[in-house]
This record gives sequence, C-alpha cells and structure tokens, in this order.
Amino acid sequence: MLNPRRAFARCLAVGLLYLVLLCCTCEARKPAAAEIKAGSRSAGNAAASPAELSLLSGRFVPEKKSGFAAIPAKFTAGKTQYLDKRTLAALAKLAAAAHAAGFDIRVVSATRNFTTQKAIWEQKFNGQRSVGGKNLAATVKDEEKRALEILRFSSMPGTSRHHWGTDMDLHEAKITGPALHNSTFKHGRGKEFHDWLRANGPSFGFCQPYGGDPAVRNEGKFAHGYQEERWHWSYRPVSADYLRDYESNAAALMPKGYAGDKAAAHLYMDYVRNIDPSCR
Ligand SMILES: [Zn+2]
Repeated sequence: MLNPRRAFARCLAVGLLYLVLLCCTCEARKPAAAEIKAGSRSAGNAAASPAELSLLSGRFVPEKKSGFAAIPAKFTAGKTQYLDKRTLAALAKLAAAAHAAGFDIRVVSATRNFTTQKAIWEQKFNGQRSVGGKNLAATVKDEEKRALEILRFSSMPGTSRHHWGTDMDLHEAKITGPALHNSTFKHGRGKEFHDWLRANGPSFGFCQPYGGDPAVRNEGKFAHGYQEERWHWSYRPVSADYLRDYESNAAALMPKGYAGDKAAAHLYMDYVRNIDPSCR
C-alpha cells in the first residue's frame, strides 16, 4: 500500500504537470500581436498595399473598380455617379427614410478620381473657373496663397474624400436654391432637409465631415481646413477606416502631379485631418 505522504506528493506532481500543459496550450492558441496587425487593415497602422494607396489617392477608374457600383438614376441629378457598394447600400436606406419623411435625396457628386479632381483644381488654379467671383490666376500671383483660396472648398487632387467612394454631395429634389451653397441649407426647405440629415443621418452611418468653423472644429489643433459644407456627407463605417489608413501612410500619399503642387502640396494633411470628430 502507498504511503499517504507519497500518494499526496504524486497527486501534486500530476496536478502541476497538467496545469503547465494547459497553460502552454493557451499560449499556443493566442495569436501573436504581429498577426493581429497584419490581418486587420482597420487597425490603421500597417503599411498600405499599392492597391490601397491607389484607392486612397483616387488613382483608379470608378466605373471599372471592383467594390464600386453605379448609383440608381432615381437618386442622381443626371450624370451617372459611382459609390463604394457598402456606402451605396447605406445610402439606399437613408434615401428610403428621407422619402418617408417627405424628402427625395439627389446625389450631385459622388466618387471623383484623381483625374477629375485635377481638372477641377487646375481650372481654378489657372483661371478658367472663377473662385468666389474672381479669376485667381490674375488676382493672386503667389501660388501658395492662390492654393489656400481654392482650398476653402476644393481639394488638391489625391487628397479628396470623394476619391474613397464613401463621400457625396447631397441635394433634394424640391429645393430651389443652388447645390453646394451653405445658404441653400440655412432657410426654408433646405434648412429642413439639413436638419433632417443632422438628426437622422447618424443612425444610417452618415456624418457631415465639414461642419462649423474650421478653426474651432478640432479646438485649434489644425492651422488649416475646409470651410463648412452642409451638402457633403460621408459613410463613416468605411471612411473612418480609410482616414486612419491615410494618416498611417501620409508620406506615401503626399500629392503631386498638378498645377501648383510645389507650392501647395505640403498643406495636405491639415485638410485631410481637420474633419468633424463625429466622422472619426
Ligand atoms: Zn463634397
């Protein structure tokens, strides 16, 4: 018969061995931190692939891009527009709720690629399109100052949230004021529509990135930022991830290849980052 003391010691040894084995198994099942980071783009820290950098900087053709789809004609104001498919699905739900509340959403502008944004920028920079009623090429000779005037409402190509397929400029079928004017959304039906979007957009994932005064939007954290844009809305569940990716890959995304880039490009990150905190 076994000595009781020896039997207790043997039990203790077997128990300890079991515990050691159990812990080793737990450790082996835990993924390494590096694996988590590599497997999750939403972590926002990993270096983006060339395909992701192309998307973030708008260097693609929306009609041929996988993951993008045309917005149904009933939601557009004429020209065919494209969106990220997840954003488009959310827009359809937002538009149905708006319709039930008496508003018929129209998308004035959705995905714009680098080429389209470059055309808009250069028309303004070179004076073919007026900015605030002025020909900037004739009236503002200093190129950085001219860029700052354009940057009140327009992005440098390669830096626009419209590249991502998550952002769009909205109007409403029965609003008579001009699209892309804050004044349109400050009185009458325009204000009612904007108030409805502010109250209901967030429950469908939508936020207004450019609200209020850019100098106070983030408590003075950024020296520059776009002016208020009551018409510009973003699908946050996708765009917040893209913003983090943009910030993590900022050096690779410094914009170039357009008129005035040498004088203006260094300003880009303030404009990308100075968005309403509700869109992060
Ligand atoms: Zn916009």
